[in-house]
Amino acid sequence: MAKLAFELPPAPTLTIEGSDERFPVNRIYCVGKNYAAHAREMGRDEREPPFFFMKPANAAVDAASPVELEYPAETSNYHYELELVAVLGASLRDASEEEAIEAILGYAVGLDMTRRDLQLAAREKGRPWELGKSFSRSAPIGAIHRAKQWPDSEILLEVNGEVRQQSQTSMMLWGVAESLAFLSKFDTLEAGDVLMTGTPAGVGAVGPRDGMVGRITGLTPINVIITGAAQGA
Ligand code: MN
Repeated sequence: MAKLAFELPPAPTLTIEGSDERFPVNRIYCVGKNYAAHAREMGRDEREPPFFFMKPANAAVDAASPVELEYPAETSNYHYELELVAVLGASLRDASEEEAIEAILGYAVGLDMTRRDLQLAAREKGRPWELGKSFSRSAPIGAIHRAKQWPDSEILLEVNGEVRQQSQTSMMLWGVAESLAFLSKFDTLEAGDVLMTGTPAGVGAVGPRDGMVGRITGLTPINVIITGAAQGA
């Protein structure tokens, strides 16, 4: 095997509840506008085919215990999006929903942290969202609970003790298995891939010293504190 010019940083890994094994993160797929009320607040109404964007593997942060996130550069509108996360333990290609369910290793609570000002500026120009969505440490993800399917659950985000997002996971327009089956028609999904399933209504900004607690019934909650100075602050 050819010698590498240099070593890459190791892939981030996530905690698996009740296990010594860790989950190595491969790719992170995110579903856009997957709750009707959030789709409306972002200017979209009807159920269209799902659409996806991605975050790099190094967006993942193990949030099995409380974590700090530094306020990111080049934004003055840093938003939370609380989401149910499903992770794959096997590959999927042109899969049925039943096959997709079999490939799931488990579920966790996650945050799709977003530089909303950059995302919206890109969207207005019909450009990709990478600068708004795809950056280091933009996806804190809690402990993974092994399960093939996750029942309808309350999804709730508090910022500094105030409820900001509250819905039910059954309000998703596209379910986990539907989304994975759909994606698998376009590319082979792999063990280590992560699906962030979209956020309910109530997205908003956080700044330095704000503390978020994200909960989905039955999963380990996540605690995330923002540090550092906001741009221009
Ligand atoms: Mn999202």
